[in-house]
Amino acid sequence: MNSVFTFPARSIKLSKRLLMTAALVLGASALSAQAATVSVSNHPMALLSQAITEGTPAAKQILQAGDVGHHGSISPSDKKTIQDSKYVVWFGDALENSLTGSLQTAPNAIALFDFKAFNRHPRRDITGAPIAGTLDPHIWLDPENAKAITRALAVIHSHANPKYKATYQANTEKFAQRMDAAVAQVQKNTQKNRPYWAYHDAYQYIENAAHIKLAGSLSPDHHLSPKASQLRWLNENRPAKQMCLINQSTAAKGLLAKLQPVSTTVQIEDMSDSQDFVEGWTKMAQQINTCIDGQ
Ligand SMILES: [Zn+2]
Repeated sequence: MNSVFTFPARSIKLSKRLLMTAALVLGASALSAQAATVSVSNHPMALLSQAITEGTPAAKQILQAGDVGHHGSISPSDKKTIQDSKYVVWFGDALENSLTGSLQTAPNAIALFDFKAFNRHPRRDITGAPIAGTLDPHIWLDPENAKAITRALAVIHSHANPKYKATYQANTEKFAQRMDAAVAQVQKNTQKNRPYWAYHDAYQYIENAAHIKLAGSLSPDHHLSPKASQLRWLNENRPAKQMCLINQSTAAKGLLAKLQPVSTTVQIEDMSDSQDFVEGWTKMAQQINTCIDGQ
């Protein structure tokens, strides 16, 4: 058992399943000098996987950058990628809805939400109140979750390509150090619980580390326009005169006019504007800080 991998509750189940699958395909992979293919669902998972596979073949990414998986369906070539992979790692049905049909019952699919290894929070309504019995799926923005995901990915990559195990382990440790340093840097000059608004509540998991706190969302989904009643509610309950609104794309001027004084920052939930997880996370936290400062 890999000592870096700490999934106490469910680790045995994962390991047995992986080992059985590994045993079945061992004959085939022994004949091939090529690395076995691991596929990952979306951009944040691909960034975390890249951190682990640095210096070795990278995983394939199924969903396009910009598509976290909430909506839509996948192409026949994506389905072939899934079939041809040794393992396909995804968060799970609650996030990548568009992959459920292909992955829910696939024998080579591993859903991270099945493991009790992550900090989890309930989803929140547009006033920021928790919704009982729900789980917010945007877990990767919590630095501890990001580190736990890299540990899980290191185990999965190690089962697929054991010859790179030492590299994966070294990369996992390096990632944790870089992530911790980034969090310390962001926390150095910020007060806790600074309020912000989100168009769509996708940033809950960065709040503790970035010292910010949601004061309401415009809409329950980034594809739905905000209702006039919600804009009124936000204005009536604004915790600071000057507010920051985090958007997934450029906010319409007419919308901003109804929330003045407000600054905005564009933060794409799947981090598809970044090529490195820690850099992308740091940039997101810093830009939100600048926005909260009213710039
Ligand atoms: Zn989302």
